[in-house]
Amino acid sequence: MAKGLLIVISGPSGVGKGTVIKKFVDDPELKLAFSVSMTTRQKRAGEVEGVNYYYVTDEEFQKARENGELLESAQFVGNWYGTPLAEVERLRNEGKNVLLEIEVNGCRQVKNKVPDALTIFIVPPDMDELERRIRGRATEPEEIVQERLAKAQKEMEMIDQYKYVICNDDADLAADIIRLIIKRYMQLSAQ
Ligand code: 5GP
Repeated sequence: MAKGLLIVISGPSGVGKGTVIKKFVDDPELKLAFSVSMTTRQKRAGEVEGVNYYYVTDEEFQKARENGELLESAQFVGNWYGTPLAEVERLRNEGKNVLLEIEVNGCRQVKNKVPDALTIFIVPPDMDELERRIRGRATEPEEIVQERLAKAQKEMEMIDQYKYVICNDDADLAADIIRLIIKRYMQLSAQ
């Protein structure tokens, strides 16, 4: 059985990555498995341990990192995030295409380790719309909103490291485009 693809999806916070991903992640033709990351950030309302993230302490995170248990890791607005390596490898060896929803520094590390990873960056129609979306979420204090906005600007400057840049003006369309790209990559990797 061919090893599954490694797919990285990034985009500034508030761009609607989750909404877009939800639209194609369960498509059986794509054989996707979502990689659940480890994070030191607080659980948000509605999030579930082991589904959205594995919520760990700083100490637990650093230990996993030092033991080489993470494919990549990065700090984002004061918290650590990382991708558990063993799980990704297990799923890919089962022929699943593993989807990582991670930020730009993590993507750079993934590309170093897995040069043929399929990398996709989702951009907002414009930055004003992004700000509206981040504020619309309103689950975080102003200080964090400001940090996320500044971070979004920085992330937008790093899109050239991605193979595909897709605008989330219409989430259905963005999901369809990503679906098409994944299918094409599956065909190519099967040849
Ligand atoms: P949030 O706190 O909004 O869930 O995530 C903040 C940022 O961290 C998002 O850009 C998200 O894509 C990214 N992120 C989530 N998990 C990981 C991970 O395992 N590694 C890296 N590098 N970034 C992650």
